Amino acid sequence: MNNKIKRRIWAFIIASILTAFIALTTYGIGKLLTKQPTLTPLQAAAQNYGTIKLDCNYSETSHILAVNQTTTYINNATQTLYEIRFHLYGNAYQADATYPAVAPSEIDRAYPNGFDTGYAKVSTPHILLGGYDNTVITVPLESGLKIGESIDIDLQYTIKLANIKHRLGYTDNTVNLGNFYAIPVVYDNGWQIYPYSYNGDPFYNEPYNYDVTITAPDGYTIATSGTEIGKNHFQGYLLRDFAIVMSRDFKTLKREVGDTMVTYYYLNDDIPDISLYTACNALAYFSNTFIDYPYPTLNIVQTDFLEGGMEYGALVFLALDVTDQLQYQTVIVHEIAHQWWYGLVGNNQIRTAWIDEGLAEYCTAVFFETHPQYGKTLASIATQNKNSIKMFESIMDEYGVNYTRQMYKSSSDYRMPTEYTINTYARGMLLFYAISEMVGYENLNVALAKFATANCYSFGTINGLTHTLEDNLGYDLVKFINNYLAGRQDTVL
Ligand SMILES: [Zn+2]
Repeated sequence: MNNKIKRRIWAFIIASILTAFIALTTYGIGKLLTKQPTLTPLQAAAQNYGTIKLDCNYSETSHILAVNQTTTYINNATQTLYEIRFHLYGNAYQADATYPAVAPSEIDRAYPNGFDTGYAKVSTPHILLGGYDNTVITVPLESGLKIGESIDIDLQYTIKLANIKHRLGYTDNTVNLGNFYAIPVVYDNGWQIYPYSYNGDPFYNEPYNYDVTITAPDGYTIATSGTEIGKNHFQGYLLRDFAIVMSRDFKTLKREVGDTMVTYYYLNDDIPDISLYTACNALAYFSNTFIDYPYPTLNIVQTDFLEGGMEYGALVFLALDVTDQLQYQTVIVHEIAHQWWYGLVGNNQIRTAWIDEGLAEYCTAVFFETHPQYGKTLASIATQNKNSIKMFESIMDEYGVNYTRQMYKSSSDYRMPTEYTINTYARGMLLFYAISEMVGYENLNVALAKFATANCYSFGTINGLTHTLEDNLGYDLVKFINNYLAGRQDTVL
């Protein structure tokens, strides 16, 4: 081989190496440039859902919350939409509301400093504020929103909080911002609009992703449904709704359960470590039994609240005035059970309140059955519920007041809060208990896990629930459940 040929071969080898090097480098840089941030499974599941962005500013002196909201709304209906509707509940707190937030019998207990009024005002032009007590916003669209298309809708509004121990209100201890923003109405063969109701939780929500900032006076500790990603900036994915509670007096205690940080915000609790322990036990038990809790945080928040507790996405209210310790632990478990029944698996809480309340009550009882350190059993809780029903019916009979055992009812159609509570909580729990007596609670747990998997981030219905249970457990459960819901609770399975 002469030198000329050698030089050519070397030149060829060097050129090839250079070309390969340049190609590889370019490919590497290209790969780096196009590399997408890794999504968590929750973020990946959230891609097909809308987003609600809230920019909130709270004045401690006027008790007014000013909100700038941008909603990315996706048309998941089966037809083009020419308007989008939202529920905005601030006006349910007006003095003359037709569908008030508080039952007349509860007014003294609800307003610590005498009756007070709250309201909502929307400043966005070209929208309508109407519906029951002006709690419904209608946004007309310039052109139709076709199936699968999305649109960004801006809304500006202010909410004047009432001085009330309620979902939305302030007291000397806390500021509760529950159901405070404009939430899109579910479109399901038409807009599913319901009035506010003091019976139960008058809500029917789809999951959304949230990006929330809140400006509040210095010194407030802020608990929210989201994860804090910057100062007072919170994000959450696939939450059934987004709540905020603020206080100058919160103490906190936290513990990790799996990938979730559980934080207890409390004002007055002699055994906060036990309350956090109960919350962590409940989270772990329901995660292992049904489906994994997917959120990075769970905040349990003690606050001024009229009822025992209230469920929100990744956050629960616990009423400050529940002083009995075992009762308080029971409220913690019940509200955390709602993270599965109401939260991950939604339902129409107005028309089928017994699904989420009955399941939350029943699963709380199963939690106690499997955690003997609390001294309650599934059977003892069932007996308590049977006794509550007997007592309610005997009092009604004594005073000659009509009542119903019918559970196919909207919560607002019950004539009094006790009748609602008996029919959704007590009879609801006993429905699932009757099935567990027949098949064993472990087998019912497995069937409920299937129901949860099939309906996660969506809605469970009476049909879906009864057929899932029947398919997985055998027995003529559809007939039994239909009879039970129709008020024939002595039907034998
Ligand atoms: Zn409940």
